[in-house]
Amino acid sequence: MAASAIVLPPPATPASYHRIISPTLSLPTDTSKPIPVGLLACQRDPLLRELVSTVITATLAQAPPTTTTNRKNKKDKASEARDTLLEVILHDTVLFPEGGGQPNDIGIITSADGELWDVVDVKRRGGHAIHFVKVKEGKTADDALTAFATGSIARTALGDQGFQRRLDHMSMHTAQHLLSAVLETKLDLPTLSWALTSYPTPSYVEVPRAMTAEEIALIQEEANKLVFEGRQVHVEVEELDSSNRAYDTPSVGIPSDYTGGVKRTVIIDGVDRNPCCGTHLPTIHNLQLFLIPHTEGLSRANTTSARLYFLSGPRLITYLTSTHSYLTATSAILSCGPAQVAERIEQVIEERKKATKRIEAMEPELAGFVAKELLKVARDGKPLVAVRHQIEDSSNPLGFLSAISTAFIKVYEDSSNKCRVPSYNIAITSSPTTQTSTSTTTILLFSSDEKELKVYADAVKKTLGLKGGGKGTKWSGKFMGVWTEHREGLLLKETLESVRIQCNGPDEV
Ligand SMILES: [Zn+2]
Repeated sequence: MAASAIVLPPPATPASYHRIISPTLSLPTDTSKPIPVGLLACQRDPLLRELVSTVITATLAQAPPTTTTNRKNKKDKASEARDTLLEVILHDTVLFPEGGGQPNDIGIITSADGELWDVVDVKRRGGHAIHFVKVKEGKTADDALTAFATGSIARTALGDQGFQRRLDHMSMHTAQHLLSAVLETKLDLPTLSWALTSYPTPSYVEVPRAMTAEEIALIQEEANKLVFEGRQVHVEVEELDSSNRAYDTPSVGIPSDYTGGVKRTVIIDGVDRNPCCGTHLPTIHNLQLFLIPHTEGLSRANTTSARLYFLSGPRLITYLTSTHSYLTATSAILSCGPAQVAERIEQVIEERKKATKRIEAMEPELAGFVAKELLKVARDGKPLVAVRHQIEDSSNPLGFLSAISTAFIKVYEDSSNKCRVPSYNIAITSSPTTQTSTSTTTILLFSSDEKELKVYADAVKKTLGLKGGGKGTKWSGKFMGVWTEHREGLLLKETLESVRIQCNGPDEV
């Protein structure tokens, strides 16, 4: 996320950002009680990176948090499941518990003894922010509980990683408010829901219908006009009562299990007022919005709604950097300029289609020749046992081998060969031109007799250590590794020969 350094937020949140508008509401100052979610430091001052506060309670977490940070891979999640975690409630915090569609923060807590502890998740429970603190290596759960004794001092901090994550979330969240407001005012399109997807993929708003490219361009232009004007953002907080609780819409508004007792309204000056508990940037200046120029229709029953994908802030720069890298790499492979990439790929696909058609047309003919070659080695009145090796770079080598067997059966059945050659058991193999320890050689066995085939297949499976299966008079298997004619090829020949002798007796000379 190095590129995000280019998107700089203002150095400090202006004092006018957080406004308590209920005369009866004030910020709780009793440090033995938690400040409710809605009035937390991360919500009053979104650019604050650390804060000294007091521990209210610390308990051992019974189970890991149900969702984890959205940037973890499977390995991290697995190790996190094994971690011992504390649930810590503080008087106040700079770490945001998820809400309003915005994911949780991650960060660090310094306990009173000066030890640093990772906060792997923050969740809202009722009106409280619960910090999931990882018990570090070399410490026991009791050590951690002692470090977070009730009434002790604890400093929460976002840290560099936590701040980069938060800056991305704030940029995308504030951009979503701006986007939803412009969609509403310019096109009368309400936002049905939205998702702040995992970094760095584009996030989306869901709107009731698909939008044209012109509409999307218009919305982007209108939103960016407001960005260039640098409209200010502030938050109004009032007491939550039953009348303003009914202000709910999906993924915005006030969750039904919220017990913090305040209602926050996020305001973009002259543009939007929206109830939201998220942390928002104090200005939309520098928050250029990029809309992916098409909507994605949703296939849910009874809906015509569509997703409009957007990017903003650090995520936009990361997206542009990565898409530019893909394009540059692709144009280098195709030996053309970025603008010609689509045209060149079209040509390559067209050429490939033609080549595939030619192969499809020639394959049966070639298979017919190979089938005749196989019959040539048959001796009159003797059962035919033959092996043939192909070298071919095909994504489906069994396809050609099957074509040979089909052609062989046809030639055998159609002609006098059936009278001349009483039975046959044939193995054909196919290896790629360059082989490594992970290469696959395909083996097809086919026979004039289903029972005989089974005897041959069992012997081949055993001597070459193959896995495979078949139906009727055909059996196929795979050999993993380097197949050489003088080693595996010879072994296959010898195996078939020994089965032949076993079944038909030795050749009379
Ligand atoms: Zn919001």
